[in-house]
Amino acid sequence: MLDQYGRSISYLRLSVTELCNLRCRYCMPEDGVCKKNHDEMLTQEEMLTVVRACAALGVTKLRITGGEPLVKPGIVELCRKAAATDGICEVCVTTNGILLPKLARPLREAGVSRLNISLDTLVPEKYRHITRYGELDQALAGIKAALDEGFAKVKLNAVLIGGFNDDEIPALAELSRIYPVDVRFIELMPMYDSGDFGPEAFIPYTRVTEALPDLEPLPADGSVAKLYRLPGAQGSIGLISPVSAHFCAACNRIRVTADGKLKPCLHSADEISVKGLSYDAMVETVRTAILSKPKWHGELSYLERSRAARNMNQIGG
Ligand code: SAM
Ligand code: SF4
Repeated sequence: MLDQYGRSISYLRLSVTELCNLRCRYCMPEDGVCKKNHDEMLTQEEMLTVVRACAALGVTKLRITGGEPLVKPGIVELCRKAAATDGICEVCVTTNGILLPKLARPLREAGVSRLNISLDTLVPEKYRHITRYGELDQALAGIKAALDEGFAKVKLNAVLIGGFNDDEIPALAELSRIYPVDVRFIELMPMYDSGDFGPEAFIPYTRVTEALPDLEPLPADGSVAKLYRLPGAQGSIGLISPVSAHFCAACNRIRVTADGKLKPCLHSADEISVKGLSYDAMVETVRTAILSKPKWHGELSYLERSRAARNMNQIGG
């Protein structure tokens, strides 16, 4: 359905857990999350009611995210049921990849067609630093497992962090030449208490175009990324610029958190509870939420932090 600014809302990002097997410094605090009461979180049945209600209102694309969605018990079954929902054409999962060696095949068989895998660096010590204790080899094994299973699309997401991985832009981009993967560079977003990054960490997407002078522009594909390709590459390079050049006019998404809050905008504190709603009430609540979607998310910078009163692991990106 259309929101009040004429944007067609066709994309649901459903966060299935706040928990994670890593602790990326820009995403969540070192001591993790205060584990919430089980009955505060959406059940699998409630998540599927959200999906069905959104599909009834015109959502065709579903992204399962977190936290780390692959640590969620029953994730494969949830994906299978979501993929079988009338109106849902595409189920994608965003993951850190660590559990993909075990789960890539079951997810593919469950009907997941696309995977986005987070990878900020190709240097083992830097991977351990940014994730606080992750092992690069495990993430790379996850990417390999995804490629072996023949997903329709595998994307690698790198958060751009000045002084940390800006020197690796060419090496990360090169992955799109070596493998059939798209590489996405995402500007660091200043979340609630997601790390103490100074001004130098917030670099604009133009740093990528400067580092990769050979980039050839590609036509837009309806996503929020500005698209390019390295000459001869198998995959594309996408630049996602929520901070330096917001794309709110093209925003086609709504988000539902694992604790049952519908967020019409990532960077707003406005949340609508969907916990415990019947299907009919869910449809009406989603409709109201879409109509309340703001025109844009307001200024973001390291000085003007996101108004979302949550860290990214509690929203899903
Ligand atoms: N655990 C999964 C993963 O890491 O891909 C899914 C959840 S994670 C919250 C979703 C995406 O949000 C990841 O690509 C991650 O890099 C990105 N992200 C988290 N915090 C961010 C921040 N402060 N700025 C920009 N992107 C962020
Ligand atoms: Fe976990 Fe993903 Fe957040 Fe990293 S970005 S801490 S992997 S939820």
